[in-house]
Amino acid sequence: MAEGQTTHGIEAIVLVRADDPDKKPILYACPKCGGLNSPAIYIATEERKHQAAREAAENCYTCRTHNTCDTCECETPKGWTRCESCRFKARLEAAVEVPDDGGPYCAFDGDEYFQELDQAADAGLEWVSPCDITYPRIDPADIYDSLLSDMHEDASIDDLNATAALDAAIDAFNKAQTQQSWFGDVKR
Ligand SMILES: [Zn+2]
Ligand SMILES: [Zn+2]
Repeated sequence: MAEGQTTHGIEAIVLVRADDPDKKPILYACPKCGGLNSPAIYIATEERKHQAAREAAENCYTCRTHNTCDTCECETPKGWTRCESCRFKARLEAAVEVPDDGGPYCAFDGDEYFQELDQAADAGLEWVSPCDITYPRIDPADIYDSLLSDMHEDASIDDLNATAALDAAIDAFNKAQTQQSWFGDVKR
């Protein structure tokens, strides 16, 4: 960037001590809202600290309407340093590539589910994640824990009768469940 040129064309206000004959810069302020930036918050050489505070004042966070993506330099919502599309690309690159497991599939980084790979391709998806399939399950331990927490302090599972019958009934119930739930993972 050339001397005197800033991201929105207005130079930072440089604050100096009124009684300093050398006019040594102390703080830098946004020319629009007056928001102050101190070199003291940066860890760098004296020169770099002042440069950083000056740049922060000239590219004031309060006055800025958007950020610039650190990868493709497009407009990015405040609060993000990288745009959604570059973040998606980074997540995709970080994802482990695994062989087709026959489905079901989840849109990569999304929440659309597909039985067949062709359906995902028809929906315009380039990458899908394999899914974990789960079925409704009752864990007998949860039931015993809940019962015991309402009993006297030293109560144990030995104080309950007919646990084997309950275990068998729960086991039969669990085995009868056919309704699948699909959860996409972070692979591709
Ligand atoms: Zn400002
Ligand atoms: Zn980007």
